Amino acid sequence: MNKMLSKIWLALIALAFFVSCSQQNAQQTLTLQGRTMGTTYHLTLIAQSELLEQSKIQSEVDAILEDVNDKMSTYRPNSELSLLNQNLSTDPVGLSADTAKVIGQAIELGELTQGALDITVGPLVNLWGFGPDGRPNKVPSFEKIEQVKTHVGLDKIQLDGSLIRKADPKVYIDLSSIAKGFGVDQVADYLESIGINNYLVEIGGEMRLNGQKADGSQWRIAIEKPVSFDRAVQQVIEPGDAALATSGDYRNYFEQDGVRFSHTIDPTTFKPINHKLVSVSVIAPSCMEADGLATALNVMGPEKAFDFAKKHDLAVYLVVKSDSGFDVLFTEQFKPYMK
Ligand code: FAD
Repeated sequence: MNKMLSKIWLALIALAFFVSCSQQNAQQTLTLQGRTMGTTYHLTLIAQSELLEQSKIQSEVDAILEDVNDKMSTYRPNSELSLLNQNLSTDPVGLSADTAKVIGQAIELGELTQGALDITVGPLVNLWGFGPDGRPNKVPSFEKIEQVKTHVGLDKIQLDGSLIRKADPKVYIDLSSIAKGFGVDQVADYLESIGINNYLVEIGGEMRLNGQKADGSQWRIAIEKPVSFDRAVQQVIEPGDAALATSGDYRNYFEQDGVRFSHTIDPTTFKPINHKLVSVSVIAPSCMEADGLATALNVMGPEKAFDFAKKHDLAVYLVVKSDSGFDVLFTEQFKPYMK
C-alpha cells in the first residue's frame, strides 16, 4: 500500500512539474505598431506571456525611436544632427556615441562602395526636393546644382572617435539612408535584453528577425514588386536570424516631361539615379549595414551593383526593369533564403 501511495505521489509530482513547465513555456504573440521617422513601425514578438508587458514594451520602443530621431533626424531642427548641420564652424564637435557609430558605419560603407553611399549628399537631396523642406517637383537649375555640389563629398568630414570635424563649414549630413536601420537594430537589441528572442521588428520596410513564429515555423517575408500603383509580392524569403533592407526608386519620386526623378542621388552626377535597377534587397547581420548597402547598390545601377555584391559575398536580390516587365538578379548568398 505504501509503495502504491508513493507511486501515486510521484506521478502527481511529475504531472505538476509537467503542467508548470508547459505553462512556463506557453508562447504568446504580441503585435505592436506606431509611427516614427515619417513612416510606420510594426513589431511581432513571441515569448512567454510574463515577458510580454505590452504597455512597458511599447513605451520603451517609442522612447528608443524618439532618441534616434532626437539624435539623427534632419526633419527635426533641434536634433543633434541638425545642430551639427547648422553649425558653420570647422572646429571638432563632440557627438553622442550613437550618432558617431552611425556616421562611422556610413563613412566605412561610403569608402567600401567608392562613394556610392555618401551621407554628405544632403544639400542635393534637399535641392531636388526630397528633404525635410518638401518637394519642389521640378528639376533644379544647372547653376544651383553647381553651387550646392561644392559642399558634397566624404573628404569634407573627418570622424575621430566621437569627434567630428567639417573641412567645409557648409557640409550637411543626411543619415536617412542608414539611421532607420540603426533604429531597427536598437529595438531588436532592447528586445533581446529583456529576454525576447523571437521577434520581427520592421520600420518603413527595413527589418530584423530572430527566432521563430509562434507555431515554430520560420519568419517569412515578402519582397514587394517595385511598382508604385500596387502592393504585390515579388519574392518570398526566409532570412532566418538576420536583417533585411530594401531600397528602391518606385515610391519616392516626381516626374517631369515623362522622366522620373527619385530620392536616391548619384554622388558622381549630383542628380537622381537614372538606370534600370528599380529595387535592391540586402540581407546582412545588422539592419544598419543592410540599409546603407541597399542604398549604395541602388546608386550603382544593375551591372555594377551585381558585380559588387558578388565580389563582397553579399546576399543581394536585384529587380531590374526590362522591356517585358522585370528581370531579377540574385547572388549565391541570397539563394538559400528564397522560398
Ligand atoms: P533609402 O534608400 O534607405 O534612403 C534614401 C535616402 O537617403 C534619401 O531619401 C536621401 O535622404 C538619402 N540619400 C539619397 N542618395 C544618397 C546617397 N547616394 N548616399 C547617402 N544617402 C543618400 N521623413 C519624413 O517624411 N518625416 C520625418 O519626420 C522623417 N524623420 C526621419 C527621421 C530619421 C531619424 C530618419 C533616418 C529618417 C526620417 N525621415 C522622415 C525620412 C524617411 O524615413 C525617408 O524616406 C527614409 O529614411 C528613406 O528611406 P528609404 O528606405 O525610403 O530609402
